[in-house]
Amino acid sequence: MSRPPLDLTGRRAPSNEELSLARQVIRRSGLVERLSCYLDSETGRPRRIPLEALLVCFQVNALQRHHQAHVIEVARLMNAMTDAQRESLGITSWDEAQAYARVDWLYNRLCTVLSAGIDGLDAQWFADCLVRASIPRRYELTHSVAVDGTDVETWGAFQGSTTVVLDGEAAETQSTAGTPASVKATKRAKVVAVGPDGRNQYTPDPDARAGHRSANGQHPAGPYIGYELHLGVQVRDVRWTNYVDKTTLSDKVPHLIRSAVLVPAGTHRTKTMTPILIAAKARGEKLRDVLWDPGYSECRPETWSYPLGRAGISSTFSLTMAQRGIRPFSKRAFVLDGQLFSDLLPAELRDLPMPPVNLPDQAKAPAYEKHFNERARWRLVRHSAPDRNGVSRWRCPFCAGLLKSRSFPSTMRRGPGVKIAFLPPTVTTCCDGTVSAPPADIPLSQLIPFGTTAWRISMNRRNAVESVNAALNGGYLHLVRGFFRVFGLTKLRVLLGFSLVAVNFDRIRSFEAKKAELENKDLPRRRRRRRPGSWQELLGDLDNRAVQLFAGAVGPPG
Ligand SMILES: [Zn+2]
Repeated sequence: MSRPPLDLTGRRAPSNEELSLARQVIRRSGLVERLSCYLDSETGRPRRIPLEALLVCFQVNALQRHHQAHVIEVARLMNAMTDAQRESLGITSWDEAQAYARVDWLYNRLCTVLSAGIDGLDAQWFADCLVRASIPRRYELTHSVAVDGTDVETWGAFQGSTTVVLDGEAAETQSTAGTPASVKATKRAKVVAVGPDGRNQYTPDPDARAGHRSANGQHPAGPYIGYELHLGVQVRDVRWTNYVDKTTLSDKVPHLIRSAVLVPAGTHRTKTMTPILIAAKARGEKLRDVLWDPGYSECRPETWSYPLGRAGISSTFSLTMAQRGIRPFSKRAFVLDGQLFSDLLPAELRDLPMPPVNLPDQAKAPAYEKHFNERARWRLVRHSAPDRNGVSRWRCPFCAGLLKSRSFPSTMRRGPGVKIAFLPPTVTTCCDGTVSAPPADIPLSQLIPFGTTAWRISMNRRNAVESVNAALNGGYLHLVRGFFRVFGLTKLRVLLGFSLVAVNFDRIRSFEAKKAELENKDLPRRRRRRRPGSWQELLGDLDNRAVQLFAGAVGPPG
């Protein structure tokens, strides 16, 4: 018995604007030039779809709000196009009934080439090229990204029971706090196979693995099968700070996805994301500061803060209870909550509570921060930046001018802005001079001391990832089970690339709309409102040298 014929109708034809935007993204990505030599012999034949046409149509599909990343949707789209639109893409002798077979064949062919990974041309490279092509240069504005992850459930169905056990690095690195005991203590799901990575495969999806996810509006906390999508989202820079209670941020920027990587669930988070960030910087991308979600910064510093530090990228993060507290450093200084402090720090400022995680009234935060701010005046101040080996030099707060005391008469000449510290009469010296600190001694040190008001303002930049998460979880698309209906990392990464491009365009549109609203607020009502963030605006910007270059290099095939 064969299945009923596929319904290949029901879509509207894309507008020429959508088509043109999608084509510019694909040309800007440079994908066709790099891949055509591996696919050309197949696509050159008549009655086949040119590679560029396939990629453009995948992109047009993703440019629809609430789209599904289904191959059949692309076939429907091609059927809905006018003959002129298809011809402009080099598609000739179109047979509607064959649409799905032809799209699916070329998509699979593309995935086969990418899984071979010749010359580094793999699915991660493919998605990277698309994401980069979606950021007009004038919006790549800051040197800071916030890193966060979101779960992507596999389309594969369980074979038998529905409970899984975390394995691989998921068990060590992903906190399961908040999981109800009833979920933890049920029988194991049937293991279909064990993958080449030694981890259990529970569904027909060969790359989906078990991971833990925290609760949100759609599901409770617990294990799931699938993938994790790690995102680096552009946020504002710290423009200036006094390291205690004041921080000024750069102008608002659109929260664009600058880096993205999809990996099997339960894969080590920072081992995945750190190399992606370092590679972006090596490629010439602006990057000086990374804001980590606690799910990442609780990993060992060898996997994030050291390698990033060596690449000239600082980290901003919160500390877990286990990461807090005092560690010995030298005779006259110790490490407290990641930061170097003078041993003269008063006892009552050593163990400070943080505000509760879900503090209902943000106005309460200053009551906690007050003590951290006071403590920050007792920190050691960096005297010289890290050398080639990461060793930095530090001065005590009295030598550096943060404090003055009658015990050290020379410091009393400092102005009225410098606080007086009252020390026991036994103290006669403030320090033993400048000290050197290798990275291993201060693995959790950050630019602005943890817990201070200045630190909170900087850390709150991380909230930007919420707007991207909202776009991915209902605002622009629904990254839930069923959004993809294919199996395996390569196929998912290819489809995801197009969707991330569309999310970035949506972020730009939303950013421009908000800006225009603010600008128009005080104008008389009669004035006709301009339409902010239209395709035309985006198109105008994408039409830069890179596009012209590619446009010259590859015309539409056929
Ligand atoms: Zn000193």
